[in-house]
Amino acid sequence: MRIAFFDAKPYDKPSFDKYGAENNIKFKYFETKLNEDTVELARGFDGVCVFVNDTVNKEVIDSLYKDGVKVLALRCAGFNNVDMKYAHGKIHVVRVPAYSPYAVAEHAMAMLLTSIRRIHKAYIRTKDFNFSLSGMTGFDLHGKTVGVIGTGRIGRVFIDICRGFGMKVLAYDKYPAEGLDNGDTVRYVELDELFQNSDIISLHCPLTEDTDHIIDEKALEKCKTGVVIINTSRGALVDAEALLAGIKFRKVGAACLDVYEEESDFFFEDFSGHIVDDDILARLISMPNVIVTSHQAFLTEEALSNIAETTVQNLLDFFEKGECTNELCYRNGETKDCKTGKCF
Ligand code: NAD
Repeated sequence: MRIAFFDAKPYDKPSFDKYGAENNIKFKYFETKLNEDTVELARGFDGVCVFVNDTVNKEVIDSLYKDGVKVLALRCAGFNNVDMKYAHGKIHVVRVPAYSPYAVAEHAMAMLLTSIRRIHKAYIRTKDFNFSLSGMTGFDLHGKTVGVIGTGRIGRVFIDICRGFGMKVLAYDKYPAEGLDNGDTVRYVELDELFQNSDIISLHCPLTEDTDHIIDEKALEKCKTGVVIINTSRGALVDAEALLAGIKFRKVGAACLDVYEEESDFFFEDFSGHIVDDDILARLISMPNVIVTSHQAFLTEEALSNIAETTVQNLLDFFEKGECTNELCYRNGETKDCKTGKCF
């Protein structure tokens, strides 16, 4: 079986080579992202393997379909970069629904602690033998209220971590999880209540029409002054322009961003020798109370190994058994786990 692997990075190869070789799957690594201009590279392959910033739109799907590519293997959980409605009936889409919720939730907490305890500043200061503490005052997490939007796999691990710090949790989810609300330290509330009462807000929901810009100017207006916004989910959950304005007006106390609306133009690449022409990103990065990481929350050894193992299993299930429990399909206006693998 031959699979065209797009947006390949050096850290992807060891685990995919290992699990691929054990199962007679040959990955051909392309550094380029998949899009209308590069899709021809997939000609002659049985499947394509893509990540979060590859573009799988109508043109790409038509081209893959015409070339007889049977399966699109997402090596991630999110699928907002795939036109799922258009893909239905043309190409099967499989994904890795969970690889390490701990990786992402722990990264969210790492960013929060770094930000509010000024670790990013301290690291640079002491490297320069500057041992002054001016401007380094942080605040305790203990006793603070964290608003968690999306209480799925990652959101729930993040809630557990926050509870370990003695924080109160206000949760919001379109489909609340049973047994999570204990009526005391963890409570499901409406979004407005979450915005009004949270000291920190962390986003763990997928990017959908409902959640696009869930943090916008109106939402920020409702928030406490000094609120800390953490986004490790998808960039477009936050209106970056509104966030920047909130930071300038001192409404937002800090922002921890592992994702950014226009990240596909920049993230995962080295722009250190270039002029970055995205003024919003550049201004956000220039702020002392903003930390940006380059969509790295997933990047742990455990997650990379799980991603490769599950992707290889998905491909084997699809090509050898004709069905895959990690297949996604578009039905009645929504994309859902197909479970049967026989949706078309
Ligand atoms: P999950 O499917 O387990 O949980 C998502 C939760 O969001 C579910 O409980 C769902 O009910 C809820 N939800 C759906 N629509 C909603 C809405 N309109 N409003 C509020 N909640 C809604 O997914 P997960 O594994 O916890 O991942 C969460 C997100 O994290 C993914 O969608 C992905 O975008 C992001 N992610 C980021 C990285 C990274 O490296 N930064 C890695 C993996 C996943």
